[in-house]
Amino acid sequence: MMRLSKYKVDNYLYKKTNLINKECLMCKGENIYNNQCVDCGTKVIDIYYSERIIKPHKHSLNMEFNLSKSQEKASHYFLSHLVKKENAFLNAVCGSGKTEIMYESILYALNNNLKVVIAIPRREIVKELSVRLKNVFKDTIIKYIDGSNHDDNCDLLLSTVNQLINYENEFDLIILDEADAYPYSDNPFLKRILKKSLKKDGVIFYMSATIKERFNIDTYTMNRRYHGHDLVLPKYYLMDNDITKNSDFLNILNSDRKHIIYVPSISLLNKLGSGLSINTISSESKRKDKLIDSLKNGSIKNILSTTILERGITIKNVDVIVLYADHKVFTYQTLIQIAGRVGRKIGDETGNVYIFYRHNSIKFFLVNRYIKRMNNEMLWLRKNNKERD
Ligand SMILES: [Zn+2]
Repeated sequence: MMRLSKYKVDNYLYKKTNLINKECLMCKGENIYNNQCVDCGTKVIDIYYSERIIKPHKHSLNMEFNLSKSQEKASHYFLSHLVKKENAFLNAVCGSGKTEIMYESILYALNNNLKVVIAIPRREIVKELSVRLKNVFKDTIIKYIDGSNHDDNCDLLLSTVNQLINYENEFDLIILDEADAYPYSDNPFLKRILKKSLKKDGVIFYMSATIKERFNIDTYTMNRRYHGHDLVLPKYYLMDNDITKNSDFLNILNSDRKHIIYVPSISLLNKLGSGLSINTISSESKRKDKLIDSLKNGSIKNILSTTILERGITIKNVDVIVLYADHKVFTYQTLIQIAGRVGRKIGDETGNVYIFYRHNSIKFFLVNRYIKRMNNEMLWLRKNNKERD
């Protein structure tokens, strides 16, 4: 039940000297060279241990919508695992309302004085999710740490996976969102610090829309979006190198819908942004939140984006266009995530996914197969892996 700090904190309970037994206290790494942990960069230094104290009080859940039948079943499934202290995995298609499914478990944890963190591999999503959660947990102090914020004095914490390095044996429940996403999925270091931050009898809920690896734990699959409509199957178009003269593309842009147009690189983003006079967004953009708000409220209709808007964004009346989709940046998983951006809102349950490519690729076949199978409710119906009726 500890917070670790490399800097002296006022209320520390005790300190330990790092790297003494050939193990790094911060990341549990054993890769020590020249008195420095190779894995996390910590040098020989005192590590200060303090306690994160949460004042028990009553929490409530204020949802504007009721959960759908299938969301409700999934929600009970996770709550029962939390009560039994068992890990669980939610494999759910984009737009099935994964976050909402966790609300009941989060509420239970908060009202039972359990320490909860929602861990997210990608920084961009941490803040957006904290805003969403504040709207439903109105009596709960919610904060996020992402490397620029370090204030964790709250009831419900959101964190990038990297920042969990500052905790040991701290959390009763970790909800790991986008468990398949870079950088978490192939990273033993991040997996180690996630485990270190969990209490010995703590529980991890994994959530993912696409799985690369088989998690050897009880899995709940939801292959319906919360509003019951199908995932949208992409429409494919061949393009040559100059998209600005492609009549299919220009006709699509002129439709009444909003468009997020994905390109594989920042150089293409800048080139097309000025060529087509469309706003652009990338990891380098300074006013990302403003741009996303403008797209949401309709003051801009189209936006060019790198894969930064691949996940975690919900906009009404939006269609998506992927340009140069054969580029290696657009993996099979990325394309599925992008296709999952459309039809997420009540009143806008369908939409269009346009994929423009120069060369055909096996991944387009895989994307279609995945979506068709999910829509046919046939995918991965393993023992524990089927939707309960
Ligand atoms: Zn280390």
